[in-house]
Amino acid sequence: MTNNDFNPDNLSFLLPVYYSRLFPYSQFHKWLSYGNPSNFQKREISFTLLGDVYIRYQSFDDEAEFAGQLCKKIPVKIDIGAVYSTKPKQRRLNTQITPVEKEIVFDIDMNDYDEVRNCCSGAEVCPKCWKFMVIACRILDGALEEDFGFKHKLWVFSGRRGIHCWVCDKEARKVNEEVRMALVEYLNVIKGGVNVNKRVSLPGDKIHTSIMRALKIINEYFDVIVEEQDIFGSEERFNNFLQIIDEDLRHSIKNAMKRGETSAEKWSIFETTFDDMLRKDAVPKHLKNLKEEIKLQYAYPRLDANVSIGMNHLLKSPFCVHPKTGKISIPFSINELNEFDPNNVCTIQGIIEDIDQYEIKSKEIKMETEEEDAKPQKVKDYEKTSLLSAIRVFEQFLDELDKDNRSSDQGNGVD
Ligand SMILES: [Zn+2]
Repeated sequence: MTNNDFNPDNLSFLLPVYYSRLFPYSQFHKWLSYGNPSNFQKREISFTLLGDVYIRYQSFDDEAEFAGQLCKKIPVKIDIGAVYSTKPKQRRLNTQITPVEKEIVFDIDMNDYDEVRNCCSGAEVCPKCWKFMVIACRILDGALEEDFGFKHKLWVFSGRRGIHCWVCDKEARKVNEEVRMALVEYLNVIKGGVNVNKRVSLPGDKIHTSIMRALKIINEYFDVIVEEQDIFGSEERFNNFLQIIDEDLRHSIKNAMKRGETSAEKWSIFETTFDDMLRKDAVPKHLKNLKEEIKLQYAYPRLDANVSIGMNHLLKSPFCVHPKTGKISIPFSINELNEFDPNNVCTIQGIIEDIDQYEIKSKEIKMETEEEDAKPQKVKDYEKTSLLSAIRVFEQFLDELDKDNRSSDQGNGVD
């Protein structure tokens, strides 16, 4: 099922089916409970209803209440906020309530790559520019795991052109905004707005291990990106690249690169010319990492800092339906990232059709085998659809979280 088949006008009758038969309520409730129902009860969950009606500071006492309200209100979007000191729904009007816990979240949006991608623009995405997302996930995952020791990261496709990461480790959920700010600052290598030409500076000779790890990942893709994005394919793109280079070196590099015809040739000439300059000691000390800085500027993750820092900032929930594309915001495994195709993600219409197909098929099988005595197996509706694999990814994530919760509980008991 392709994206083009989806008609947003159908949402009003597709969403009630999705919420009543397909949304993975028990897994969702288990996730936000983190082993204690009170965590779920104090969590802000907001709805956007058809016609842009926005309801904030809702909370639900249990899975049944949450499911009941989803089926009743049929939101086109569900957002998740923080866990508060009191149930958000019981807060007094016009009084502030304090967020006490929240996953550390990251939002990477293809939009922020428009200055470096040339294959698509705006909301479009294709396998060529998706490589930037793959790089971003791998770099972020490596840094969160190896530099901070975070293990429980839930990766979610946003439904159109981006990726969300929910860091759910206990230690991560408890950190305050100052720590979140420091963490984002650490991970934010690309500085300055689009009007700044050179946005990455690596001070000194020795590059930090976290950056080295990132560069190793970028190197796996960079030559292909140079070609696919045709990064010097227009006068403007070539000039933008030259602006990154210090004036003292720019002229000779430009003249050398002009000899190349394709972007790949130009990049290769740049590399050999710059290496040559390094060998001849013609590069000032503070520019020695220029090649690495350029690669980072083109391919290092572009993070939306505000989303990660604010405790009360909302982020779209996994398993939401994107109202424009009809795609489900599905969790995916970082190990299957290279195969993930954003244009092939299941849509609400597609999975509802899957149920019908499944039922037609099982009727046929039943007629063929004529085993009328056999008891019909109870199969959940989502198990009949292509949403199943995403739900399995989610369940596996929850199992890992559970294991850790149990072992830390036992640890406390011994103490
Ligand atoms: Zn593209």
